[in-house]
Amino acid sequence: MDSQLKISLKDLKDKGEIPVDETVEKELFPDALSEGALIGTVTVKGRILPVDDTAVFEGAAKGLWRFECVRCLTPVEAPWTAPVEAEAPIDAGHLDLTEEIRQSISLAQPMKIVCRPDCKGLCAVCRQNRNQKDCGHKDEGPQMSQRPRLTIRPDKG
Ligand SMILES: [Zn+2]
Ligand SMILES: [Zn+2]
Repeated sequence: MDSQLKISLKDLKDKGEIPVDETVEKELFPDALSEGALIGTVTVKGRILPVDDTAVFEGAAKGLWRFECVRCLTPVEAPWTAPVEAEAPIDAGHLDLTEEIRQSISLAQPMKIVCRPDCKGLCAVCRQNRNQKDCGHKDEGPQMSQRPRLTIRPDKG
């Protein structure tokens, strides 16, 4: 079965433009994100215009994704929008937007996502989420190690 995003160009020259408004499953873009995940559906809107012998799509894709906050590891869901441009020769008969959209999502992927601008992160000593509770440990500046320090000593009375 062809992708819903493989759009026929056969009426392009007669109509002058082809509007695109498709909602597709996120599974069409399995490798778009290196971290995090897409949620639900992806909506693609725009239009295809003929430019000489080329069909040019201009539009945007949008949806929801989920990342972990880089400071406290809480999952964060956020809406995203990515501009999309694609083209194909009109003679090809169709324009498949799938790969261009996958790349656009990949480029739009945030480098760092935080659950809120003032996220306090995890305590470097006890890993308590300090947004939820103040464990009372002093913040001793940037930690070189992310690993929790756990020392377990057998207690032999
Ligand atoms: Zn956070
Ligand atoms: Zn602590």
